[in-house]
Amino acid sequence: GSNTDFILAVEGLTVSFDGFKAVNDLSFYVDQNEIRVIIGPNGAGKTTVLDLICGRTKATDGSIRFRNRELTRLKEHQIVKAGVGRKFQNPSIYPDLTVFENLEISYPSGRGVFGSLAFKRSAEVVARIEEIAGRIFLSEHLHTQADLLSHGQKQWLEIGMLLIQKPELLMLDEPVAGMSVNERRQTAVLLREIAKEHTMIVIEHDMQFVAEIADKVTVLHQGRILAEGSPEKVKADPKVIEVYLGH
Ligand code: ADP
Repeated sequence: GSNTDFILAVEGLTVSFDGFKAVNDLSFYVDQNEIRVIIGPNGAGKTTVLDLICGRTKATDGSIRFRNRELTRLKEHQIVKAGVGRKFQNPSIYPDLTVFENLEISYPSGRGVFGSLAFKRSAEVVARIEEIAGRIFLSEHLHTQADLLSHGQKQWLEIGMLLIQKPELLMLDEPVAGMSVNERRQTAVLLREIAKEHTMIVIEHDMQFVAEIADKVTVLHQGRILAEGSPEKVKADPKVIEVYLGH
């Protein structure tokens, strides 16, 4: 039906760990260029949903269609190739390399991470690295060793390392965790900017930040959807207040 209009269609998604359904008959649909935020109490199944989409965890049942392609049968690297990028909570940057080198190593060369070290720097690659560095507020730090960046700047660098691979769908797990108020504000601007060209799924706890970035919020509870809608709508939902926001 009209579900083929969505860039991502998750239907009846279920995963059991020793009989315990961490994600239970879950269905949701994401539009192109949407920022979807997933919220919910600890253990609700948020991380597991991202693990299922990126192929790190195999579904017990259900389907995940990305641009009408079934992902549940693909391996993790095939899902990356299909255009799905994921950032985990802790930055996985190369601390001894500069910002420039971290972005360069992430540039899709088709030869894997270590092959790309020997990758000849074309003007096109350099221009792309400089463009990305500008977007992630690190133009002034191109030749700074990544280790010396602030925690927030490291998070931005990792977003840049994802962006340079041009994934159509970016999944971010608590991108502003540990950031200052200013860095959070800048990150909200960055994510809105990214959404002009990409689709995003973001796990987040900070409701102020959620309200700034989300087109739509999916509230998970015990592996199921408790509520879904605009940030204003879910914030006012008595069920959401009871199981999540009231604490
Ligand atoms: P959230 O990200 O919302 O905090 P998770 O997706 O991490 O929740 O976890 C959902 C539930 O699934 C939790 O009860 C967790 O203990 C369980 N779980 C997650 N991964 C596994 C696993 N690999 N094996 C067994 N249980 C798991």
